[in-house]
Amino acid sequence: MRVGNLIPQLLVCRAYKKLVKIDHYEMSKRILVTSALPYANGPIHLGHLAGAYLPADFYTRFQRLKNRDIIHICGSDEHGVPITIAAEKEGITPEEVVEKFHTGNKKVFEQFGIDFDYYGRTSSETHRKTSQEIFLKLYEDGIFNKKSQEQLYDEEANMFLPDRYVKGTCPKCGHPEAYGDQCEKCGASLSPTDLIDPVSSITGNKPIIKETEHWFIPLGDYQERLEEWLDSRDNWKANVLGQCKSWLDSGLSDRAVTRDLTWGVPVPLPDAEGKVLYVWFDAPIGYISATKEWAEQKGDADLWKTYWQDKETSLIHFIGKDNIVFHCIMFPATLMQHGNYVLPENVPANEFLNLEGQKLSTSKGWAVWLSEYLESFEADLLRFVLGSILPETKDSDFSWKDFQNRVNSELADILGNFVFRTTSFTNRFYDGSVPELSNPSDLDHETLEEINKQKGKIEQAYNTFKFREAITETMTLARVGNRYFTETEPWKTRKENPEACGNTLYVCVQICAALSVLFEPILPRKMSVLRKQLGLPETISWDEVSINLVPSGQIIEQGKILFNKIEDEEVEEQVAILQKRSAAMGKNQKEYAPIKKETSFNNFASLDLRAGKIVAAEKVQKSNKLIQISVDIGIEKRTILSGIAEFYDAEEIIGKSVVVVSNLAPKKMMGIESNGMILMGEDTEGKLHFVETDSEPGSKVL
Ligand SMILES: [Zn+2]
Repeated sequence: MRVGNLIPQLLVCRAYKKLVKIDHYEMSKRILVTSALPYANGPIHLGHLAGAYLPADFYTRFQRLKNRDIIHICGSDEHGVPITIAAEKEGITPEEVVEKFHTGNKKVFEQFGIDFDYYGRTSSETHRKTSQEIFLKLYEDGIFNKKSQEQLYDEEANMFLPDRYVKGTCPKCGHPEAYGDQCEKCGASLSPTDLIDPVSSITGNKPIIKETEHWFIPLGDYQERLEEWLDSRDNWKANVLGQCKSWLDSGLSDRAVTRDLTWGVPVPLPDAEGKVLYVWFDAPIGYISATKEWAEQKGDADLWKTYWQDKETSLIHFIGKDNIVFHCIMFPATLMQHGNYVLPENVPANEFLNLEGQKLSTSKGWAVWLSEYLESFEADLLRFVLGSILPETKDSDFSWKDFQNRVNSELADILGNFVFRTTSFTNRFYDGSVPELSNPSDLDHETLEEINKQKGKIEQAYNTFKFREAITETMTLARVGNRYFTETEPWKTRKENPEACGNTLYVCVQICAALSVLFEPILPRKMSVLRKQLGLPETISWDEVSINLVPSGQIIEQGKILFNKIEDEEVEEQVAILQKRSAAMGKNQKEYAPIKKETSFNNFASLDLRAGKIVAAEKVQKSNKLIQISVDIGIEKRTILSGIAEFYDAEEIIGKSVVVVSNLAPKKMMGIESNGMILMGEDTEGKLHFVETDSEPGSKVL
């Protein structure tokens, strides 16, 4: 009886909970948006923008138009080993590195219209205090495990070496410059003790192994709670849940939250000298500290609590897929343990953006930096194009040709053309005064109704983080307007049926006006210009958008071209810049074979090098590589076999003046005895070239 009663009750509870959850998101009093803190060791490129910042900005701008209470928080992540490495490379301090990129990145975000309420930095005093408080709370709860581990230590520099500070030979591929955590040549992930002949990259000394102690968060203890919480999430992207699930399925283990370093937030414990919080423990706390600074700036120091601690807040983290584990597992575990914070409502992480079919790579120069983009094009164009190809469910590709196509065929030919036709026609034939709507046809009604229809679809797309769809549906409205203008032929009805002509213009003006708000999240600057042209106020809310936003008789300006077409040469130039830089950086990145072990002068002097001239050459039958060469070295003619058939035809090398190692012991290959060796040099593509000389055959080469 009891059991029978319980089951339906549970079901009711679940169904009810589900309702509450959906309501919570729609009805929550406020929204807190964060976007991934960019690392302050380099400039922002296209991939960053498409990963987190544009989607976060589209969403925030849409919700602002909806008059929701929403704030958007971000800032520079200024701790961690890559910062100290960048500092050493440039011969400046870590403070100087983060200052440079914090300022530069903040500026470029502004130029792209990324509408942060606050852009903080993790080197701030508020952040130090906040991270230390959270660490101490967890410490006092007794949840950390303190464990000692062996780590490489540089005795001269007097410090433990982070993995990136240890270099040595890769045990997998023999690359002499592998890092303690990874070999960049073969991609193997390593631990510093795997390296052959490890050296400290600070002093070049061989490090010793020394014990060190760290605090670990036992993530396994939160496994069940995390699973339950993730199960209760609605409308999460499959790629995000999938990644979380694979972490959970493999079982969560202890993660160190401290590091031996001097750059970072010091561990606030007496026995922790020389230790800082692990950057992945402190970075997400940066969202909280930046919100605190924002609240202080607002003059209400406690306001941050409303956003982080009140259950009526929906917290949304915008990130790239490489940060999923930190935002969906580690940070929530920290917040759960702390207890006073809201957990994310959603983490709509994006996949990666590629560039011209290749993976973006800062170190290989395969990237478009935003500051560089702005030298040639307007920010809104990139917002639109990247927004149209966001890697929402899988990796996507940006190409300059596609950029040009989308700007020309959609922004210029559809949206721009429609606005221009409407405003210039109204100016030319109605003195800029919006005509009356009188006796509208079915088509006029239906077309006006498209405004409401599309508005609903666009709204739904924004609410579910489908920004590509939001853009498509908004452009659809412009397409509808453009087609309607063409079909109703106002240039004809102007004389034949002035009433119909006036109706056409009235309807088109209303669509232009609606677009100036509906496209606002994507094209904020252009739509502001459009609203001015239409004599509309700067701010119009989403809900005010209707089928009669502009009254008859309102004066609108002579149309100006909103979007100019992009010429072939302009994008070809961008591709050329990209290729040139990548080639130059690729060359600098060339990996050289290590210098061989030292040899004595006597060893060197024992080689007899002579100038020679190739007098005959033929390919060795049955061999793909060998050419049999006859060389005149003055004293005699020698037969030498050389493995160069893949680079040269036998005939083309006859007559070349070369350098021969004349006293090399003979060696038999394919039944032919080779007496000596011809010196060759290898180019970057691996092709061999003769070392040539002007000397007479038989002369010594020294
Ligand atoms: Zn390797």
